[in-house]
Amino acid sequence: MSRSEQFASDNYSGVCPEAWDAMAAANTTDEPAYGEDSWTQRAADGLRSLFDTDCDVYFVFNGTAANSLALASIGQSFHSVICHELAHIETDECGGPEYASNGAKLLLGEGENGKLTPESIEHLVTKRTDIHYPKPKALSVTQATEVGTVYTPEELHRIRAVADRHKLHIHMDGARFANAVAALDVHPSEITWKAGVDVLCFSGTKNGLALGEAVVFFNRALAEDFEWRCKQAGQLASKMRYISAPWCGLLENNVWLQNARHANACAERLEKGLEGLPGIRLRYPRQVNGVFVELPEPMQTELRNRGWRFYNFIGGSARLMCSWSTSHDQIDRFLADVRSLAG
Ligand SMILES: *Cc1c(COP(=O)(O)O)cnc(C)c1O
Repeated sequence: MSRSEQFASDNYSGVCPEAWDAMAAANTTDEPAYGEDSWTQRAADGLRSLFDTDCDVYFVFNGTAANSLALASIGQSFHSVICHELAHIETDECGGPEYASNGAKLLLGEGENGKLTPESIEHLVTKRTDIHYPKPKALSVTQATEVGTVYTPEELHRIRAVADRHKLHIHMDGARFANAVAALDVHPSEITWKAGVDVLCFSGTKNGLALGEAVVFFNRALAEDFEWRCKQAGQLASKMRYISAPWCGLLENNVWLQNARHANACAERLEKGLEGLPGIRLRYPRQVNGVFVELPEPMQTELRNRGWRFYNFIGGSARLMCSWSTSHDQIDRFLADVRSLAG
């Protein structure tokens, strides 16, 4: 399979050139270990300046660790975390958040298009308040969601209002945070700390790094002793600069945003090309870099026979993901194959 014949995931993509160059630059000298190096300082300062606030920043290897450790830092083992039933922390982290917190329970909420509603949160918090039930302490929103939709700043403010009423902290799973910023065309602060988000897990991996996620605490009190939590969990990279230097590459000249805009635009091209073809129906509104689409079963089989890779999601719809490395040629080849099979 040629690498480009896929819409399976944004993490099938390679490392973007700017991140690769920064890694090469970091490789020219020796530097202190365990995050005491100049690159890590620069990357953390870069994120503080990006968010325009004095946040605490930590780098870990992957998203599961970032989410699990961030959530563990919010509560105790007897607490609970409210999230959408489709949330990655529920469906794809193998119980990582529960494990890292020594047992905090996830309470599953609902809402259209993968988005938790204030009503659903309210229902879960007020359903039980007795000593026999784990006390809700946090809620988690995924921005952009698992089904490629985004929370608007207004929606986040409404969620914050419920959170305030019930003293809940807000965690944001930002595996595709960059794509959400690009789609909403807002300053990153508008959908994080200005909307009352306490901690953000900002993915570099899906944006164009080899690995490395930033855990960004806007509520700095929650970050107390977080470095020990990371170390104990095996998430403190000794050669940290190989995570943080590529982050510097993403932050410089807003490469992270360009990558996200490119991926979103590719998905839009894909969506436009699929629209209106017989037997094809969009499953969710396309807002970021993924198109969720119902394709006839025989068409899916034939596309796979022709070498195309993509995942099936929720009730069999195909998930077509784009990344910084997706090309227009690749999209047009895929659309030509789809049209020939739909005709
Ligand atoms: C990819 C992804 C993650 C992180 O996954 P890892 O494989 O642990 O890096 C977290 N949340 C969402 C919504 C994701 O899509």
